This record gives sequence, structure tokens and C-alpha cells, in this order.
Amino acid sequence: MKVFYAPVQKTHDPDTFLVAGAQRPIPEVPERAERLLGAIQRLGLNAEAPADHGLAPLAAVHTPEYLDFLRNIHAEWQALDGSREVVPNVHPDRRDCAYPSSPVGRAGYHLADTACPVAAETWDAVRTSAHAAVSAARAVLDGAPHAYGLCRPPGHHAFTDMAGGFCYLNNAAIAAQDLRGAHERVAVLDVDLHHGNGTQGVFYRRGDVLTVSVHVDPDDFYPFFWGHAAERGVGAGLGCNLNLPLAVGSGDERFLAALDAACARIEAFAPGALVLSLGLDASGDDPFGGLKVSADGFEEIGRRIGALSLPTAVIQEGGYLSDTLGDNLFRVLAGFLGAR
Ligand SMILES: [Zn+2]
Repeated sequence: MKVFYAPVQKTHDPDTFLVAGAQRPIPEVPERAERLLGAIQRLGLNAEAPADHGLAPLAAVHTPEYLDFLRNIHAEWQALDGSREVVPNVHPDRRDCAYPSSPVGRAGYHLADTACPVAAETWDAVRTSAHAAVSAARAVLDGAPHAYGLCRPPGHHAFTDMAGGFCYLNNAAIAAQDLRGAHERVAVLDVDLHHGNGTQGVFYRRGDVLTVSVHVDPDDFYPFFWGHAAERGVGAGLGCNLNLPLAVGSGDERFLAALDAACARIEAFAPGALVLSLGLDASGDDPFGGLKVSADGFEEIGRRIGALSLPTAVIQEGGYLSDTLGDNLFRVLAGFLGAR
């Protein structure tokens, strides 16, 4: 299995965000990459730096205004008497509005919450993380049965023109769109603790990309506004989005039952390729504490997804520092590879 990652992805190291109004350290830290790399090495795999694929694969998912914002806003922000990092403090109501020219206005337009501050290093880090996803997709397009993008920062909460929840560029959506170049239908399966709202949003009106997400019920969990079972897609996309929310505290049994439903829907869709949005924060050890998937559970998750026998780009999403973060990646990939 080819693995793509570059050290520049660690340079993004934001400070704090707001949780229930209180300032807290951001848990999406560079150390995550080290733990995940440790698991890759234990599997006998080596990470290689992704090629620079340019802006085209990113622009196939994200708007020009948004890419321009991510690249330039930090420099513009320095002229303000404000924070070191770009953090929004005003948001458009439901976004039925004009596009603002002010840096403060654009920060509110493009940043959904305080969990995605933009620092000087952010653009290079998120661009390279997205290129790791493109490299994984291209390896699969070139005939590899699977590849892994160690995408940090993660991506599945990012919409076409909006960052959120530690995510800036939607790495999984970018990989899926890239795979569409050679496959009529592509599926995205998201097993992160949190609903993949950005990925759902990118493809919600399309019938060529199936989006399936197993996650903790958003009624009382981020991302709050999306992730309910009733969200099934619209127009040509109707029926091509499947949300499988689980009650807080669910463990292996309920997660695997939902995963079976997800896999059945994917098989019925008959995609040419699969993107696996691989979050590890459904672990019972994860600081978010939403679900209780065990190490054995992760290995079984990997095995069942591997048994789909689809060309697969595995894209890293969440999963935060705990004693088992690295081991959970090891187990899920061991299960996946063992099933192939
Ligand atoms: Zn997550």
C-alpha cells in the first residue's frame, strides 16, 4: 500500500477554539501525524511525499474565491489590529447574501466556526494534505488496488467554499472527484465519529457520487445541522446520500451493524472506486468520547470495507491524541489489507 505524506503538513499548528463558549486548545495537533506515521511504519509501509498536483484538482471541488481566501487571507489580516490567526467573529445568516470585500467579512463567509483559524502556515499545510489525497487517488487510477493519504489537516467538514471543524480543503471529496475522471460512479464511505457534512454538501445534488456516513447522532454532537437520517440528497442526488447516525455511547456491535448497511448500499450503487474517509475518533479512547469502538472493532471495520474489493483511496480524517490512536490505525489498515 502506497502512503502519501509530507512534513510540511505538520506546520499548521493553530492555538484555540471555542467549545460551548469557552476557549480550549485545538486537539487537531501536529503530534497526530507522528502517531499515525508510527502505525504506518509498524505495518512495514513507507510514506512518500505527494507530488505537487497544482490547483486544478482542488478547484474541481472548491470555488476560486475560497481558494484565494485560504491562500491570501493571513497576509491581508496582518494589516488589521486583530488576532495573530484569522478567526471569524461575524457570520452571514443562511448565506443568502453578497460576497464581502472586507477581510473580516470574508473570514465570516468562509469559516463556519472558530475551529479553523488560518495562520501563516495553513495554506501550505492544507494544500499539501489535499495533494496527499490526490496522490492516493492517482495511485488507484494507475492501477494500485488501494493507497492511503495521511491527510492532516483533515477535510470532511469542508464545503465547496467553507472551512469548519479543523477542516479546510475536503481531501476526500477532492480524491472522489479525481477518481470520477476514470469511473462513472464513485462512493465515499465516512466512518469518522463526526458526520461528513462537507462531503455530503459537495455531492448532495449529484447522482454520480454516493456519500455514506456512519457517525454519532448530530442531535447533540458536532456538526449539529447535518447528519440526520432524513438527509437523502436532492434532485439528481436524491437517494445518493445515506446517513447512519448512532446513539451516543454506541460500541462495536451497533457500529458494525450500521457499517453492514453502508456496505450493502455501496454494493447496490456499484461504484468503480471507493474513497474511505477514515476517522479514528469513534474509538472509546478518543477525547471526544462520542462512541466506543474498540481496537478489535477497528480491525473488523477494516476487514469488512476491504472485503468490498473496490479500488480504494483511504483518506485520513479525525482521531485525536489517546494511547490507542496509532494502534487503531494499525488495526483498521491490517484488517483492510488482510481482507484483500
Ligand atoms: Zn471527527
